[in-house]
Amino acid sequence: MIKVNRLSKAFGKNEVLQSIDLSVEKGEVVVILGPSGSGKTTLLRCINFLEKPNGGEITIGDHTVNCKRPSKLDIHILRRKTAMVFQHYNLFKHKTALENVMEGLIIVQKLSKEKAKEISVQMLEKVGLGSKLDAYPSRLSGGQQQRVGIARALALNPEVILFDEPTSSLDPELVGEVLSVIRKIAREGITMIVVTHEMGFARDVANHVVFMEGGVIVEEGKPSEIFYAPKEERTKQFLSRIT
Ligand code: ATP
Repeated sequence: MIKVNRLSKAFGKNEVLQSIDLSVEKGEVVVILGPSGSGKTTLLRCINFLEKPNGGEITIGDHTVNCKRPSKLDIHILRRKTAMVFQHYNLFKHKTALENVMEGLIIVQKLSKEKAKEISVQMLEKVGLGSKLDAYPSRLSGGQQQRVGIARALALNPEVILFDEPTSSLDPELVGEVLSVIRKIAREGITMIVVTHEMGFARDVANHVVFMEGGVIVEEGKPSEIFYAPKEERTKQFLSRIT
């Protein structure tokens, strides 16, 4: 249901993604691992055109985009079908938790205020923040702010949620609450691509694990294959450093 074909991206002479192929089935959780600078964030940002790829194709559902010559409509459609959860939450500081979730529904999806509010309350309840609807981000912990970010992504009802290191800005004691929300929505069958360094989470939740280095996919497979029987030397080295 999501297919990335020969996706490439360079910043000047730095070829950050080199002909990436990736397939994600509906309801699947794909975890992307790799050392710093391997292109993981850039891959997510290219999938929803926060970065414009240099070449390749992206298919989400029934819509295929030629990345070299995307139309405005192509970009609009890809953005509507995806939602991103950012490392630094990216909440509006002067809006409450509820307003942060409502914003995209009103501005992008053009829902009425009443409908947007109904959906947003439901999503904030789902992430355990039903009692924090009127709180501003400065009054929320990092874990709570990230849960608002997750509620905001869920509210858009995208075909895939792209998580970019969702717990790496958090104090260690707050990581668990965010991972457990992600686990819960994964069990509900939401399709997701997750860039993370949380190996325990990757082992438990991923259906498919991708190891990237130097802008290429070095190895991919089931968690049991990648974690317990990696074939490539570079994967073995990475895992031995990190686990
Ligand atoms: P990390 O785990 O540290 O977040 P990553 O695997 O997500 O790393 P990317 O953030 O995708 O890696 O970066 C890959 C490469 O692209 C790096 O060399 C980075 O310096 C470069 N890069 C990323 N964004 C830009 C940009 N906007 N302009 C120029 N170079 C960039």
